[in-house]
Amino acid sequence: MLKSYYEILNVNSNATKTEIKNQYRKLVRIYHPDVNSSLEAEKIFKEINKAADILLDDEKRKNYDKYRSSDKIFYNKNSSNYTFSDLFKTKKDKPKVKTPQPKNGEDISVSVNIDFNEAFLGTYRVVNIAHSIICPKCSGHKFVNGSKCSYCDGLGEKILKRKITVKIPPSIKDKTKLRIKGEGQSGLYGGKNGNLYVVVNIEKNDELKIEDGIVRYTAQISPYEAILGGNISVPTLWGEAVIKIPPLTKANQSFKLVDVGVLNEKTNKKGDEIVKILIQIPSEITDEEMELYKKLGELNIKRNAKYC
Ligand SMILES: [Zn+2]
Repeated sequence: MLKSYYEILNVNSNATKTEIKNQYRKLVRIYHPDVNSSLEAEKIFKEINKAADILLDDEKRKNYDKYRSSDKIFYNKNSSNYTFSDLFKTKKDKPKVKTPQPKNGEDISVSVNIDFNEAFLGTYRVVNIAHSIICPKCSGHKFVNGSKCSYCDGLGEKILKRKITVKIPPSIKDKTKLRIKGEGQSGLYGGKNGNLYVVVNIEKNDELKIEDGIVRYTAQISPYEAILGGNISVPTLWGEAVIKIPPLTKANQSFKLVDVGVLNEKTNKKGDEIVKILIQIPSEITDEEMELYKKLGELNIKRNAKYC
């Protein structure tokens, strides 16, 4: 039997607009796709929106009520308007006692973002899942001894919010779909639970690149660092590392860092990272620095002259 819009929103047919609005909001909080990703919830969400659209609009509600009261005539057995549709509907609406068939729970899909380092090291993420279960008090019938079930507020189901810790293994690839068995929606009447699928998105890291298992990084240093040498800090998969560059380091010169690269799970050893040097000319310079560069320029001319 089709539910009336009042039944869909679980309100009395004489409910006030405020009551309807409040009830509608309550249901939205339960069935909104953001909190409940099951297909069933999606269907209910559409239904409650349609019901609210009619019942919260005075004109539409009036027309709907009019239509409903004329429709009721056919349901009234004592009425003289005992028509063919009456027979048809009465027969169809007879409650059938049926053993419920086992129904498997829906799968739930969520996505998580991890960064580049976590993708290589493996990590954990906590995901929030909203399971809907048949109300244990009224067994989904919405009423207990003729009155509205107080435990589920007459909805016939309860939403259980759970936090699930998902282990993300090391060396995972972007968009990998992890399956967590049995953590989807609950199965009914002995049916199996759905699965939880976690799609892992790896956020891009423009600094570190990996080619053939070797981590590559380009370090930008200033001209004076290249000339004087010194310690520079570089990112690795495992955090920051400091490398010592010698005086008179040239552009494109490479330095190898060992034991900071990709972890080989079989040998449990870390690979290399190659740091390439790029000498960057500053985009701004102070007057004082400019004076010093001029001096360097003069010294250079003098030195060249000496060898001429
Ligand atoms: Zn209940």
